[in-house]
Amino acid sequence: MKKNKAKAKALLLICDGLGDRPSIEGKTPLQAANTPYLDEISKEGINGLMDVISPGIVPGSDTAHLAILGYDPYKYYPGRGVFEALGADMELCEGDVAFRANFATVDDKMRIIDRRAGRKGSKDLAEALNGLEIDHTKIMFTNTTEHRCALVLKGENLSNAVSDVDTHEAGSEVKKCVPLKLELEEGEKELKTANIVNEFVRQSYDILNEHPVNKERRRRGELPANIILLRGAGSYEEVPAMKERFGFGAACIAGASLYKGVAKYLGMDVVPVEGVTGRADTNLNNKVEAALHAFEKHDFVFLHVKATDSMGHDGDFEGKVDMISRIDKELVARIMDVGAYIAITADHSTPVSIKRHSGDPVPIVINGEGVRKDGITKFDEISAASGGLGRIRGVDLMPILSDFMGYYKMFGT
Ligand SMILES: [Zn+2]
Repeated sequence: MKKNKAKAKALLLICDGLGDRPSIEGKTPLQAANTPYLDEISKEGINGLMDVISPGIVPGSDTAHLAILGYDPYKYYPGRGVFEALGADMELCEGDVAFRANFATVDDKMRIIDRRAGRKGSKDLAEALNGLEIDHTKIMFTNTTEHRCALVLKGENLSNAVSDVDTHEAGSEVKKCVPLKLELEEGEKELKTANIVNEFVRQSYDILNEHPVNKERRRRGELPANIILLRGAGSYEEVPAMKERFGFGAACIAGASLYKGVAKYLGMDVVPVEGVTGRADTNLNNKVEAALHAFEKHDFVFLHVKATDSMGHDGDFEGKVDMISRIDKELVARIMDVGAYIAITADHSTPVSIKRHSGDPVPIVINGEGVRKDGITKFDEISAASGGLGRIRGVDLMPILSDFMGYYKMFGT
C-alpha cells in the first residue's frame, strides 16, 4: 500500500508523577536535575502547562492516562479492576466485572493482621482459587506481582457498583461487600455481585488457610496468605480503539501492569520488553530500543516511566532528581533523532513535599516540524508556564498531536 507522505509519527513520553512543587533551595526536582537533552527539546519545541483532568482535580494514574491518550475519563473510565485484569493478560468480555486483589493475613476472627501477605506471591495459592464457580458466575483469579492479584467475575447481571472488601488498615475486621446503589430493580445486579464477592472471600479463607503452601509458611514462622481482599471493581465494556478514533496504529511500552492494562483497553499493541520493572531498576536502554523498533509498525508510540512517581511518594527529592537526570541521559538523548513528533509530559504531579498526587498542572513540551518555538529554553514547571501552548487539558493533547501528524479532522468546511 502506498504510504501517505503527509502523515508523520509521534512519540509520547509520560514520566509518571514528574510534576512537583519548589522545595529544596526553592527548586522543583526538574529544575534541580541535569537535563541538557530535555532542555534542548524545550528550546526547539512549544511548551506549556497541562491540567490533566481539570484545574485542581487530583488525578489517579489510571484516569490521567485515559485523558492524555484522548479518552475523557468521565465517559470512559471503567474502574481500576479492569486495567489490572487486562494488564495481567486476562480475557475480558462485555459485562465482566474485575477487581484488584491482595493476598492478606487474617486471624480466626477475620481481623486483618497483614494487608499484604506473602510479598513473594504464590502462583499455587492463586491456582487453588482460579476457576471457582459461585451463583453461576465463573471466577478467574491470577497472581500478578508480589502479593497483588487480579480477579474477574464472568456471568450474567453483574455490576461494578459494589464496595471494597479491603479496609486499607491492619487491625480492623474484613469488611462485607455491599451494593453502592439500591434504586428500583437496578439494585439487583449490585446485590448479586456483592453476595458473590462475600462468598468468594469466605471460600478463599477456607481454601487458603489449610493450603500446603500456608502450612509451610507457618512452619517457617511466616504469616499465612490466608484470605483475598478485593477492591476497585470495574465493569468491562469495549471502547473505540485509538486507531478508530485517531486513525493511526499505536504501541505501548511500559513496565507496570496498570499502564499496559490502560493501553490494551484502548486497543494499543503492548510491546513486551525484557528487564522493565516499573521501578528505578528498570532497564531504560531496553525501553528505548523497543520504542525505536515499535516505529517500524506503528505511527504512535507511548513510552511510560514509573520511577519518578515512586520517588515522589517516598518524599525522596534527591532520588527524583537522579531519576530525572538518568531519564534525560539514557532515554531522552536517544529518542531526539527519532524522526517523529515528540511530546514529553507527566500524568500528574507527585510533589516530594506532600508524598501524594496533587492537582498542580504538569509541564508539557511538543517538538517537531512546524511547531511554534516559543523561546523557552528549559523543561520544568516554572519555565513551561510562559510557553506558547499556554494551559491545556489532558484530553486536548491527542487532538493537538493528531493535527501535527496530519491525521486531523476538520470541524465544518
Ligand atoms: Zn501516575
